[in-house]
Amino acid sequence: MVERKKVVEEKNSNSSNHCGFIAIIGRPNVGKSTLMNHLIGQKISITSRKPQTTQHKINGIYTKDNYQYIFIDTPGFQTRYINKFNLILNQSVINSLEAVNAILFVVEAGIFNEGDNNVLSLLPTESNVILVINKEDKLKSKYELSQFLDKVKGKFNFKETVVVSAKFHGGVTNIYSLLNPYLPNEHFLYETSQLTDKSNIFLAQEIIREKLFRYIGEELPYNIAVMIDEFKYDNNLIKILATILVEKESYKGIIIGKNGEKLKKMLTQSRIDMENLYNSKVFLQVWVKVKSGFSSNVQYIEQFKY
Ligand code: GDP
Ligand code: MG
Repeated sequence: MVERKKVVEEKNSNSSNHCGFIAIIGRPNVGKSTLMNHLIGQKISITSRKPQTTQHKINGIYTKDNYQYIFIDTPGFQTRYINKFNLILNQSVINSLEAVNAILFVVEAGIFNEGDNNVLSLLPTESNVILVINKEDKLKSKYELSQFLDKVKGKFNFKETVVVSAKFHGGVTNIYSLLNPYLPNEHFLYETSQLTDKSNIFLAQEIIREKLFRYIGEELPYNIAVMIDEFKYDNNLIKILATILVEKESYKGIIIGKNGEKLKKMLTQSRIDMENLYNSKVFLQVWVKVKSGFSSNVQYIEQFKY
């Protein structure tokens, strides 16, 4: 169902089509990935309460009538910890702003802090930026909202402002029509049924990573990797074998949990998400292995560059 990247060349000869790239940017945890999932109507980008969950840039594609919207979900801009890994993530945010047709700048209702300011300062002044105020549900009153709007609106020459509650689907569909004026008259770049530029294998890896974030939370070491060893269509089933790599023996115990309960829970949740995404039954088996030093390996770090 989720197909591999395939650029459609001459197939769409209908010149009344509009197609463009829209970067979703904002500091960590404002709800960028949640917003993208709701914009395309399928969960392809992982979300978490813990900042820095999204580590790869991921395109989410939504096609309706003559319009194809290619949303780019970016990792949050990191300013708190400066290390090689975060510098690469930051660079990827900056890269994604080049050559996009519009930008959705996402903030959390009621909060505008230094992190938001840092991201805002990256935006080229002439770009088409739409201010998205997410998590409207967190505000207590209309008055609070209008106070906040007054505060944020003056910070940039925003083309439009929209208030949404991505997690609860509130207002998200209003965003398409706000973007239409910025999508150029272009052939579609993707098949109309395609939801993402990422492969099924990548998405399987991300789903497992999301459960690790969700179930292990604060204890989760950042240097953890998920590898898909096998992804095979087997009659009516997709067979997925994966390995979770950790640096230390003690992390292995944290992930597996008492009597293997934690790992079991994570795998059940992962399998359910995969079945929804692939629209197929899934057999999933995962091993946890210790391999010290892998996360400082150049090859490991290289995969986050694009
Ligand atoms: P990102 O780091 O900007 O991509 O943020 P995520 O999409 O991962 O979301 C961060 C957290 O905010 C998650 O726990 C989401 O469930 C939560 N969240 C996202 N949208 C909303 C919303 O509209 N209302 C509330 N209350 N929480 C939200
Ligand atoms: Mg994210």
